[in-house]
Amino acid sequence: MNDADLDALIPGLIKKARDAREKAYCPYSNFKVGAALLCEDGSIFTGCNVENASYGLCMCAERVSIANAVSAGHRQFTALILVCDVPYFIGSCGMCRQVMAEFGFDWYLVMTTPGINNDWKKVTIKELLPYGFGPISLDDSKGQKENIQSNE
Ligand SMILES: [Zn+2]
Repeated sequence: MNDADLDALIPGLIKKARDAREKAYCPYSNFKVGAALLCEDGSIFTGCNVENASYGLCMCAERVSIANAVSAGHRQFTALILVCDVPYFIGSCGMCRQVMAEFGFDWYLVMTTPGINNDWKKVTIKELLPYGFGPISLDDSKGQKENIQSNE
């Protein structure tokens, strides 16, 4: 999908993310977050944050949307739209950035601001997680191990 086609879809995806945000389960933080994940084939999966009394088990909206997509058989993503109430552009937490990087560095996170203006800004996962570690890092390290062993 080219940039112009993606940009044209973003307002509708923001609406889906806002609808998902309304389903957030966040009795501890009261910080509602919604996500809408556009897959390469055009499928859309949403997510909201799901908190837990055992705080470390809280799940972010981004990861919930990715889990929804993967569990339906999707692994190729185009953009993840993120909505929350922070009045400026803000990216995902570090854990979510790493989970996004599992599925490549050349797709987009779309940050938004609240309100009716539909202001948004898209960044690649590579921009979101510079020098990021991903599946290819494991492959690349295997080659290095062989080089080290052959030098011994
Ligand atoms: Zn997160």
